[in-house]
Amino acid sequence: MSRVIALAGNPNCGKTTLFNRLTGSSQKVGNWPGVTIDRKEGRIKSIGAVLVDLPGIYSLSPYSPEEVVSRDFLLDSRPDAIINIVDATNMERNLYLTSQILDMGIPTVIALNMMDTVRKDGTVIDTEKLSKALGCRVVGISALKGEGMEELLEAVSSADEAPSPVRLSGPLEKSISEISENLRDKVPEEHLRWYSVKALERDVLAIERIGDSWNKISEIIEKLEKEEDEESDSLVASERYGSISDIVASSVKTKRTSGSYTTSDKIDRIVTHRWLGLPIFAGVMFLVYYISITTVGGWGTDWVNDVFFGEWAIPGAASWLEGMAVDPVLSAFIVDGLIAGVGAVLGFLPQMLVLFVLLVILEDSGYMARIAFVMDRVFRRFGLSGKSFIPILIGTGCGVPGIMASRTIESERDRRITAMTTTFIPCSAKLPIIALIAGALFGGSALVALASYFIGVLAILLSGIILKKWPSLSGTPSEFIMELPPYHVPGIATVIRSTFEKGWAFVRKAGTFILLACGIVWFLSAFDWSMSMVGDINDSMLADIGNAITWIFVPLGWGDEWQFSVGTITGLLAKENVVGTFGVLFGFSEVAESGDEIWPIIAAMLTPIAGFSFLVFNLLCAPCFAAIGAMRRELGTWKATGAAVLYQCLLAYAVSMVIFQIGSLLIYGTFGIWTVAAFATVALIAYILVSKEPFARYRHKTSEAAA
Ligand code: GDP
Ligand code: MG
Repeated sequence: MSRVIALAGNPNCGKTTLFNRLTGSSQKVGNWPGVTIDRKEGRIKSIGAVLVDLPGIYSLSPYSPEEVVSRDFLLDSRPDAIINIVDATNMERNLYLTSQILDMGIPTVIALNMMDTVRKDGTVIDTEKLSKALGCRVVGISALKGEGMEELLEAVSSADEAPSPVRLSGPLEKSISEISENLRDKVPEEHLRWYSVKALERDVLAIERIGDSWNKISEIIEKLEKEEDEESDSLVASERYGSISDIVASSVKTKRTSGSYTTSDKIDRIVTHRWLGLPIFAGVMFLVYYISITTVGGWGTDWVNDVFFGEWAIPGAASWLEGMAVDPVLSAFIVDGLIAGVGAVLGFLPQMLVLFVLLVILEDSGYMARIAFVMDRVFRRFGLSGKSFIPILIGTGCGVPGIMASRTIESERDRRITAMTTTFIPCSAKLPIIALIAGALFGGSALVALASYFIGVLAILLSGIILKKWPSLSGTPSEFIMELPPYHVPGIATVIRSTFEKGWAFVRKAGTFILLACGIVWFLSAFDWSMSMVGDINDSMLADIGNAITWIFVPLGWGDEWQFSVGTITGLLAKENVVGTFGVLFGFSEVAESGDEIWPIIAAMLTPIAGFSFLVFNLLCAPCFAAIGAMRRELGTWKATGAAVLYQCLLAYAVSMVIFQIGSLLIYGTFGIWTVAAFATVALIAYILVSKEPFARYRHKTSEAAA
C-alpha cells in the first residue's frame, strides 16, 4: 500500500500551488463526508505516495467544519506523514497551527514556503535552528518557483519518527502530564499528548471521545485555573504564541528597518482607504465588466450564439437529421429541445471564461483580499462577511459563476448564506424581463432597472439578517483575518488552471443537468396529454400546467393570465426564456431582445403595478435550473437546496404581494382580503428582522438534521 501524506496549512499559504506541483495532473476531487468542502487527492509519482489536501485552517479547534474535517482525518485515517506548509512571511500565525499539529505525534515535515519572497525582503531564516526548536524536519521551499521540491520529497519519504511537541510552561506541562496519566489507555498512544492538551482546553469534540475519565480531568483543569487565575484554553493559546514567538525570534533575522513601508503597504494605504477604497473598486469592476461582458467576452458570446449555434450547429444538425431521414419528432427534440437549450447556456461560456481569467488575476494578485476587506465594513452590519460581496458582484453577470465564486469563502456558514442569496441580484439573463416590463408598462423608464438592482441588494442584505437567525446558519460572520497577503504578479499556470477548472465545471453542467431539463420542457410544450404533437402551444401540456397553477399568482396581480405563469415556469430553465415564451404564446415566432412587438399586448393585460409585481417575482424567485444546480453543489444536498429555493420563492411571493397589494391600495384605492394579508406579511417580516430568536422552535429539528 502506498504511503498517505496529508497536506495541512493556513489558507493562502500556497497549499494549492504546492499540491499541484507535487501531484501534477493526477488529481481526484471529491467531498469530505457530510460537508461541502472539497477533498482533493493526488499521487506523488516519484515517491509512490498519495497526497491528501486538507482544507486551509488556522487552528485545530472544534468550531468550523474545515477544522473538524482536518482533525478527524488526521486522527482517524492516521496518515503516514504530514506536510505542514508554513508561510515564511507570516511565521507567527502559521506556526500556531504547526504547534497543534506536532502534538498529534504523526511524523511531520515543515515546508517553509515563500522563501523567494523572504529572500527578496532580505530576511534570513535559520532552518537548522528552527528545525531543532520545533523538533521536526524543516525544508525551505518556493512552491511557486518549484524550489526545494526534491529535498522536501526526500524528507517526506524518510519521515517516520514522531516529532517532539512544542513545550509550554512548567505548570501547564504538569497538568498535561497528569491528564495524560488518566487517558493512557483510552486514546491511541501516539495521540496521547494531543488529546491531553485538547482536554485541557475543554475541547468539546475531544471530550466526547474521552468519555468517562472526564470527571477526574475536569478537577485537574480547575486546579490549574485556580492557580493561574485564567481560563485553561486561553492559557494554552497564549503559551503557544509565547513559545512560538521565542522560536521565531531566535531563528529569523529581518533586515527591514522599522518605520519603512514595503510597496504592498503603500498600495494598501490607497486601495483600502476608508473613502477611496470603494470608488477604486467600482472602477476596477467596471473595467472587468466592460472587458468580459460588453467587449471581448460579449463578442465571443455573440459569436457562439449567432454564428456557432445560430448558423452552424442548429441549421447543420437540422439538415443533417433531415438528410438521414430521422423521424421529424426526434429531430425536433434534438434540435429545438436539446441543442437550442444547451446552446443557450453554452453561449455564456466565452463571457464566463474572460470573466474567470480576470477574476483569477485579481484574486491571485492579492487584490480580491483587499476588496473583501473594504466591503467587510459594510456587510458585517448585515451578518454577512465582506467575502460575500464578490459572488454577488459576479452574479450580476450570471448567477452560476456567482454561486460558484462563493467557494472562495472559507467559512461554511458564510458560504451557504451567500450561495442562497447571490441570485437575488439581477443577472444579465433577467435584463430582457426588465426591459420588457419597463418598455410595455413604464414608458421605458431606466428607473425600473435601477429599482430592480435596488430590490436585489435589499433582498440580499435582509436575507443576511433573516438567515443568520436560522439555527443551522447562526453565528457571527467568520473572522476577517486582517493580514493581507503581499501583492505579486499572478502565475500564468495558476490562471490557466483555475480558469479551465471553472469553465469545465460549467460545461459539464450544461452537458448533464441542463440537457435533461431542456428535454423535459420541450416535451411538455410540444405534446398534449394524449401524446400527440400539438400545432398550437396553447394545447400543450405546458399550457395546461400553466392554467393549473395560475391561481397561485392571483394575489400578486398577474394570476388571471396563464401565460405569465408559463413564462415564470420556463424562466426556470433560463431566465431568457421568459420573454421568448411570451413571443411564442402571443403568436410571434421570433421576438427581439426587448420584445417590443408584444408591448401593447402586455400593456392591455396588466396594470403597471401588476407588471412590476411580475418582474419582482421573476427576479427574486427560484433562479434558473443551472443556478439551482450550482446551489446544489455548494449546499451539498438536495434537501438544503430545496430549502433554499423554497426560501427564495417565499420571499419573492411576499415581496411581490406587498408591492401589488399595497401599491394598488395607494394608486387605485383597492382594498380586500389580500390587502390585509400584505400588511400581515409586512408585520411578519418586521418581526423576524427585529426578534432575537424567531425560529427558536426549529432549533431542535434543524440541529438534528445537521447531525
Ligand atoms: P492556498 O490558499 O494555501 O491553497 O494557497 P495558494 O496555493 O492558492 O497560494 C496563495 C497565493 O500565494 C497564490 O497567489 C500563489 O501564487 C502564491 N504563492 C504560493 N507559493 C508561493 C511561493 O513560493 N512564493 C510566492 N512568492 N508566492 C507563492
Ligand atoms: Mg487553495
